[in-house]
Amino acid sequence: MCGTDQNPNSASANKTPTANGNGFRGSSVSPDTVLNLEQGDPTVFEPYWKKMGDKCSLVISGGQWMSYVSDFTNVCFFLEPQFEDAVRRLHRTVGNAVVDGRHIVVGTGSTQLYQAALYALTSPGGAEPISVVSAAPYYSSYPDETDYLRSGLYRWAGDAYAFDKKEHGDYIEVVNTPNNPDGTNRKAVVRNRPDDQVKGKLIHDLAYYWPQYTPITAPVDEDIMYFTFSKSTGHAGSRIGWAIVKDKEIAKKMAKFVELSSLGVSKDSQHRAAKIMGVICDGYQNCKAKNPELFFEQCQNLMTQRWKRLREVVNRNEIFSLPKYQEEYCLFSGGLYEPQPAFAWLKCKEDIDAEKFIRGCIKVQGRTGRKFGTDQKYLRISMLSKDEVFDQFLERLSTIKAISNGY
Ligand code: PMP
Repeated sequence: MCGTDQNPNSASANKTPTANGNGFRGSSVSPDTVLNLEQGDPTVFEPYWKKMGDKCSLVISGGQWMSYVSDFTNVCFFLEPQFEDAVRRLHRTVGNAVVDGRHIVVGTGSTQLYQAALYALTSPGGAEPISVVSAAPYYSSYPDETDYLRSGLYRWAGDAYAFDKKEHGDYIEVVNTPNNPDGTNRKAVVRNRPDDQVKGKLIHDLAYYWPQYTPITAPVDEDIMYFTFSKSTGHAGSRIGWAIVKDKEIAKKMAKFVELSSLGVSKDSQHRAAKIMGVICDGYQNCKAKNPELFFEQCQNLMTQRWKRLREVVNRNEIFSLPKYQEEYCLFSGGLYEPQPAFAWLKCKEDIDAEKFIRGCIKVQGRTGRKFGTDQKYLRISMLSKDEVFDQFLERLSTIKAISNGY
């Protein structure tokens, strides 16, 4: 057993109920419940949107948005113009990406756009599939999403730091910034190493480049960037993502992928996203002074509070450590801020299986560092659960006093 102030009930973990902040009912979580902090389900933002009442409501009549087609003259024929306008307006409001003169491609979540980008950047007929890399610790879904269809066009090749471009040739590097799981700001790593003959292509996954998670230091202007409704506003259930693409032919190829895999993207969801983005932007447009009630300010405060409380507990028990982040000037907020990522990247001071330890000791399910291309002493914990789950997590974490043999 691990050393805790109180021994949790010894019922087998698989038989105990699970709380992940969704499907969870009631205001308190029983000590028997396994807290699911493995997925980054963004339920933390629900209270904000509930408080907005009917401001974001949308009534869809039976005859609306029935066609597959939005506009055949657009590179992405299923992109609703209202959604496109809302995306451009949101980025201009936040200042996190260049959108002028760029093409927008909508996807069923950014998960689909990652695959669309791989498809667009490769061509049939090569001797070998192109290597896809990302610097470890990388987002744990990249390997599976890259390889699950056993494509002849591309294949997962692991950690970008370990990639030998002289041996393997052309490659695609996914740059996830700020990075899931460790919250660091990233630049391409293979591109910046010598060897100009080998051509690398980049995909920028900017899921977390929003003011509630990190200071906005410049509008990003990369060839292929994608964002998601799931992490920007928290509406993961709508399954909406969008890519901002410089090259028209690449944008067309990405749209072709979405056409072939799902024949477009829900128009209902595009309109819901447009409505919510519009409400956020109207708030900023109508309010010249700083206002803590606006979406990004409120969520930035929420994340600041969570990180402050987590750091206090982690510093006290001295079993784990957390990354230290530098303050940077946020152009959006007009002040100095530390990143406050969507995930806590805990490092255990001893070389143990941190996932197993935390699960066995305090019934908290995180995700092991091994899934991110690094080792077992790291553990990723979601910072985006509902308040009651997060509170309970801190309470349980604060009871761990020691790691004993066999945990
Ligand atoms: N990229 C990163 C780094 C993510 O963390 C996630 C969600 N966990 C996604 C992409 C996919 O998000 P979605 O498909 O919901 O847009």
